[in-house]
Amino acid sequence: MSLIVQKYGGSSVANPERIRNVAKRIIETQRAGNRVVAVVSAMAGVTNHLIDLAKEVSVPLTPSEREMDVLLSTGEQTTIALTAMALQSLGAEAASLTGAQAGIETDGLHTKARISNISPDSVHELLNAGKIVILAGFQGKTSYGDITTLGRGGSDLTAIAMAAALDADLCQIYTDVDGVYTCDPRVVSNARKIDVISYDELLEMASSGSKVMQSRSVEFAKKFGVIFEVRSSLNHHPGTLVKEETMSMESIVIRGVSLERAQAKVTISGVSDVPGTASVIFGAVGNANLIVDMIVQNVSKTGITDISFTVHKDEVSKAVDALRPVLAELGDDVNLEATEGIAKLSVVGIGMRSHSGVAAEMFKSLSDAGINIQMISTSEIKVAVIVAEEDIDRAANVVHETFGLSKI
Ligand code: ASP
Ligand code: MG
Repeated sequence: MSLIVQKYGGSSVANPERIRNVAKRIIETQRAGNRVVAVVSAMAGVTNHLIDLAKEVSVPLTPSEREMDVLLSTGEQTTIALTAMALQSLGAEAASLTGAQAGIETDGLHTKARISNISPDSVHELLNAGKIVILAGFQGKTSYGDITTLGRGGSDLTAIAMAAALDADLCQIYTDVDGVYTCDPRVVSNARKIDVISYDELLEMASSGSKVMQSRSVEFAKKFGVIFEVRSSLNHHPGTLVKEETMSMESIVIRGVSLERAQAKVTISGVSDVPGTASVIFGAVGNANLIVDMIVQNVSKTGITDISFTVHKDEVSKAVDALRPVLAELGDDVNLEATEGIAKLSVVGIGMRSHSGVAAEMFKSLSDAGINIQMISTSEIKVAVIVAEEDIDRAANVVHETFGLSKI
């Protein structure tokens, strides 16, 4: 008998009808001769609603993170009970477990706790008694018994970590799309579902805007070698298999194209080209807890240079505020400028490690389409460019076409 860990996201359990649909799928899986642990998220919108309530009652303070975890964990606790009830009404034997009951222990970093240990004795006991186990995603407890949560999207992590702890034969992540696509199908109409993708490619695509899974859960899967499949809970199509790369996966140079809108660029010009300037700039930005994406610094001929970086557009005013006090340290005639209305397009593929010319091909297709590139950055398996936001959909389409991604 195989042991299967399934995870159903918020959209798959959004209402009673969908919960009953999930229950039916779980029963199908069990009837096919498997033992099943199903991890569920809060019903769609519930976590956000709870966050709003917390803010409302806490004004003018920020809600305490410990209480936030007590609150947010109720979203998943609701779903496990409802799913177990739906299963029972369909004649199956099922029991729900909270993260704490399932032995998921974490550190004390409330709202973004890390799993430190899993002792799944209660899960084994229920499975041995022939029951389906419905496990609350996104939550655990500290060694002192305090409730913690694992960061937004953390039910993915619960599923991957539980699959590792139970040494499951299969881990399936059910969502409302058929899998990971070569590009967002709302932008590129002939985008195709990817059959197999490596952990590293999925991580790069996630950091470039294609959020199918919580990045921490993919890192965890990579570390512990958990192979998983992302697939739809609304049909029976095979999904996308995510695993360590193999030689044959390298023959495909570009796996996918991802885009990230709503970016902004901050440029500090007239900066003295001396040791320490970048550290002053990014020290100030880092102290304000801002996440910087691309960074470009020009070589200087005159001892004066420009430094630009990008952040999400919601963070740009915070970045400017953080930089103002340190400008005088950067040179005599420094100018600070922020521009919105830009977006990032990335091509990702492990095949890039052994193929040259990817960047050139991408740049040529953009130039043929008359699209100006404002910034460029690369990693071993990614080339990313910043373009005007109004060009991003067209850019995604031409690049997707150039690399033949609709046909592989
Ligand atoms: N309910 C949590 C969230 O919305 C966890 C999850 O859905 O994975 O972030
Ligand atoms: Mg999710």
